[in-house]
Amino acid sequence: MKMRATRRWRLSCAAAACSFTLLAAFSHPVAAASDPEPNLVGRVIVLDAGHGGPDGGARAANGVWEKTITLAIAKRTAAWLEQAGARVYLTRTEDTDLATDEDRAARRRHQGDLRERVRFIRRHHPDVCLVIHCDAVPSSKWSGATTLYHRGNEDGERLAAVMQDTFREALLPTKRDPKANDTLYILRRVPGATALAEVGFLSHPYEASQLQTPAYQERVALALYLSVVRYLGGEGSPPETPDD
Ligand SMILES: [Zn+2]
Repeated sequence: MKMRATRRWRLSCAAAACSFTLLAAFSHPVAAASDPEPNLVGRVIVLDAGHGGPDGGARAANGVWEKTITLAIAKRTAAWLEQAGARVYLTRTEDTDLATDEDRAARRRHQGDLRERVRFIRRHHPDVCLVIHCDAVPSSKWSGATTLYHRGNEDGERLAAVMQDTFREALLPTKRDPKANDTLYILRRVPGATALAEVGFLSHPYEASQLQTPAYQERVALALYLSVVRYLGGEGSPPETPDD
């Protein structure tokens, strides 16, 4: 177990050509990941890979769909979390959406898909829920991973802040801040520690090319894993008031 984790880390790190900063940022939790991680053992984590099936999401210039990248990253993240003792549930493990036959018949496939994702997440009562997407805009100049949380959800805000810090340390350069959001369906309807990761821009040529490589997908997965460890370890919490 220990050997496997160590070897895996070395491979992924070498492949990602990671910097000293990245190594430093990951040294502690990766060492911990070879054994059960106390912050994770028995915790329930839900990972929602954005899009799927007929809903491809955004598309890179070479035709690769967002849905493919989000699923690859979700599966890699699940492997890290499970290895450290968490109970992980993925809203999807294949190229499908979650809409029912009735939704399809009623031509409300997209709404049905989102509704079923929310049901799935809430049914598992997760300690942490990560929703994974990629960004895309008409201009090719924007890049960098971003986190979003539902405005007013304090747990979600703290999770998004910890995750954004981790992205700054571990992924392609980003100076972005976590964004409060009022409208995203899943963030509105899932209470507690829920945040959405836009892990990079498919409209940015270099970031899009990286997001399609197994090495960078593993780097994103490790950053998501580390974010959960940090969050459940209490990072970003207000200091406790001493008892009198
Ligand atoms: Zn998306």
